[in-house]
Amino acid sequence: AAKKKGKNSFEYFTPWMQQQSRQRSGLIKELRQALGQQQFLLHYQPVFELTTGQLTKAEALLRWQHPAKGIIEPADFIALCEETGIIIPLGSWVFQQAIRQLSLWQPRLAPDFQLSINTSLLQFQDKQKDILLCLNNLKHYQLSTKQLIIEVTEKTLMDSHHNITEKLLALQQAGINVALDDFGTGYSALASLTRQDISFIKIDRSVIHNIAASSADRILCEAIIAMAHKLSIKVIAEGIETEAQKQLLLDAGCDYGQGYLFSPPIPAQSFQLLLKQH
Ligand code: C2E
Ligand code: MG
Ligand code: MG
Ligand code: MG
Repeated sequence: AAKKKGKNSFEYFTPWMQQQSRQRSGLIKELRQALGQQQFLLHYQPVFELTTGQLTKAEALLRWQHPAKGIIEPADFIALCEETGIIIPLGSWVFQQAIRQLSLWQPRLAPDFQLSINTSLLQFQDKQKDILLCLNNLKHYQLSTKQLIIEVTEKTLMDSHHNITEKLLALQQAGINVALDDFGTGYSALASLTRQDISFIKIDRSVIHNIAASSADRILCEAIIAMAHKLSIKVIAEGIETEAQKQLLLDAGCDYGQGYLFSPPIPAQSFQLLLKQH
């Protein structure tokens, strides 16, 4: 019976699936308009040096201010932006916006302050070399390349096509630091550490979450930090929510931390106030 039905595959298209697909194409349509209608914005999460408590970095995190639904978080739209290619113009916008913001904060910043920007694999696969345009953006505002960190995922480091190595090298040679995001979630993570010249790894929230409760996760975390340091890579812990987690990370020699214990991601203006306090 299945074979007979196979020809008319629409019979498998249930009302539920129809609704899903309608919602999806609706969302795609809205996403395509969102950039032109300036519905995207960046929030900034402070990153602290753990031993001194100094505010030394910020991570720019994308938000979608939907006209009807309110603020939508990246988990609900980044994947769709990647599937549709919208991430290419959106990613360029993120770079422009973040670097413009950095230039506005510049008078208040410590000389070693760095702004961290997330990227998708697709932005590195793009033939237009869009990813290298951030160098022009920095130059335009007379900012130093040392002030920027580009966060990549393991997916990006593992892609051996599209001249990605070459592009990463060009960024690094220009002085931009590269951070490996979401470390501790993949399978080939150890190998990816040695692939490129990486300045930072960011230990994923899922690892940090359990370090106070599970000795196995604590040991994993300590091993990651020790290994990174042997490779001259600095470590940023993500998703620190408790004093206990912070203390364990300090004991393990972790360099930097971000998380709700210190501050959630906040609007640019609030971040400016934070800079004043520090
Ligand atoms: P990520 O780069 O790993 O960012 C860290 C995420 O953890 C952020 O979620 C942040 O709000 C959240 N977080 C930070 N501290 C805590 C904590 O203490 N507890 C908990 N529960 N969460 C914490 P967010 O902002 O929802 O972003 C999710 C992901 O979306 C990011 O993960 C990143 O992969 C992606 N993303 C965000 N902005 C961009 C962007 O501009 N471009 C691209 N390609 N991806 C982005
Ligand atoms: Mg990140
Ligand atoms: Mg991460
Ligand atoms: Mg991520």
